[in-house]
Amino acid sequence: MAEQITCLQCGGTQVSVKSRALDPASGKPTVVWLALIAGGGAVAFGACMLLGGIGVAISTKMWAALFLYLGVGALFLVPGALGVRKYLRAVKVREFKCADCGHQWMRLKNAKKAVSCPSCGSTEAFQDTFTANRQNGDRVVLWSTILWGIFAVVLIGGTLWMAIMIWAEGDDGMIRWEYGSTLAGIGVLSTGIAFGRFGVIAVINYFKAERTKLSMGHCLACGYQWKQWAGEELQPVGDSVPDQPSQDAE
Ligand SMILES: [Zn+2]
Ligand SMILES: [Zn+2]
Repeated sequence: MAEQITCLQCGGTQVSVKSRALDPASGKPTVVWLALIAGGGAVAFGACMLLGGIGVAISTKMWAALFLYLGVGALFLVPGALGVRKYLRAVKVREFKCADCGHQWMRLKNAKKAVSCPSCGSTEAFQDTFTANRQNGDRVVLWSTILWGIFAVVLIGGTLWMAIMIWAEGDDGMIRWEYGSTLAGIGVLSTGIAFGRFGVIAVINYFKAERTKLSMGHCLACGYQWKQWAGEELQPVGDSVPDQPSQDAE
């Protein structure tokens, strides 16, 4: 940084600067480069699975393989996309620290994300709006619900298909189990249901949730935090009593 930064508290000029990323909803520092690398890797792998599945299906005419590849591909693609999204949505800030008095403060890097603080009026504030469950304030994510849905369909559908194959082939078929093919099919299917039901529950919870837009805001200048449900009054979060608002930035 070429410009001279002076401490807002003591006027000292020994101020160090660090780049940080904050979670847009909680305002807490977050590590996003890991999310970017893991997310990018998962997206690439998921895309390869999708393309590979289409290739295998076309060349072998085994359309069941397509179903499997698409399912596995989506299981990587969706969380991968969420990881990349987490990186893109993080609020990038500069954290300043004065070597003389220890005073620390943060400023937004990207003014495009700035909103004005309802408490002190500073534009060193940011706000995140997302869908949440009005009953408990938990975030409700369509993407992960879709992922859980795919998970349930692949697992329950796949094991049902396997069970039908086992039942159709009978005791002399591919799977020869001493207790018989009927039990073997039931075993495979109930394993699929036992795990797949978590996906079903996630999808049911999504539709049961009272989905409402929630905005969470944070002010870097005065420390005020607020939240606002769509169509309701703005309310402060916790005991974030604003201390004396500092007007000038940097
Ligand atoms: Zn200072
Ligand atoms: Zn403020």
